[in-house]
Amino acid sequence: MNIVPISLPTPFYIGSVNVYLVKEDPVTIIDTGPKTKEAVDALRAGLRQAGIAVDDIRRIVLTHAHEDHCGLARSLRDEAKDAEVFVHNWETGHRVGRFEYEEHLQLLVRAGVPPDELAMMRKLYEGVRQYADALEDDHCVDLNDGAELQFNSGSLRVIHTPGHTPGSCSFIREADRTVIAGDCVLKRVTPNPVLSPDPIDPTRRFRSLAEYLVSLARVRSMAPTLVYGGHGEPIRDYEELFNRYLRAIRERQATVIGLVAKESVSAWEVSRAMFPAADDVHRFLAVSEAAAHLDYAHSEGKLAVEISEGREIYRKPGGKD
Ligand SMILES: [Zn+2]
Ligand SMILES: [Zn+2]
Repeated sequence: MNIVPISLPTPFYIGSVNVYLVKEDPVTIIDTGPKTKEAVDALRAGLRQAGIAVDDIRRIVLTHAHEDHCGLARSLRDEAKDAEVFVHNWETGHRVGRFEYEEHLQLLVRAGVPPDELAMMRKLYEGVRQYADALEDDHCVDLNDGAELQFNSGSLRVIHTPGHTPGSCSFIREADRTVIAGDCVLKRVTPNPVLSPDPIDPTRRFRSLAEYLVSLARVRSMAPTLVYGGHGEPIRDYEELFNRYLRAIRERQATVIGLVAKESVSAWEVSRAMFPAADDVHRFLAVSEAAAHLDYAHSEGKLAVEISEGREIYRKPGGKD
């Protein structure tokens, strides 16, 4: 099975994004790049070099619905005359009826984000939306964990790997244990568990870090020989990366628990203490990171939480509860 990585520019801090052309019958592209002229041009050039035209594409598969990955899904689908779009139904970013800022707003308020910061985050949220065209629900086919995407020369098995987002999926070619992992596994950075509404109960925060740890271990149990990430170079030593991620996560858990031991705080306050220099979108990512770690520490019984004036305040366990 011929998997061709194509790197596309994005307007985002992360830099370029990797999409993967599976040059087999049916021709399939995994992720699409953001909706920018630069990404469209680079994608067309990459396809042309591989001897493929957009209207040869029969399947568009999304690892997750962040704009840098799903932005062009709609226009590729239309141009390729109704190619099928596959995405896990816990993702919402690509949908016409996506979770809007209002769902996120509740979660941000509860995390202790102050009002002026909320206004800034709304602006960022709306700014990012321009990089993806929304799909109707009936344009999409669900990706189900364990299902197979069949090709004339083999198959890719779907592995639901929630964490970075609720509906993140990876794909394994079992013949040689090659994995396409989207933003679940990145060579140079530990992926951020992005603050998301829980897909089952959107009034709750998705327990991203606990889910992510399960996903990382699940990928490990498959003993991958090569992992293609959503950004950066491929990973040949997953075991090393897995151990590195676990160390980083453990260290951050200790930092977060240490901050709460000093005084009772909100996720926002933890994020400002951990990343005092963070600005614009990084403040959102920082509060995502803090909330994910607080949720995890709480689920392990290492922190207690109470609601005070609509905000979650974390404190040392014990005492009144
Ligand atoms: Zn992402
Ligand atoms: Zn990404």
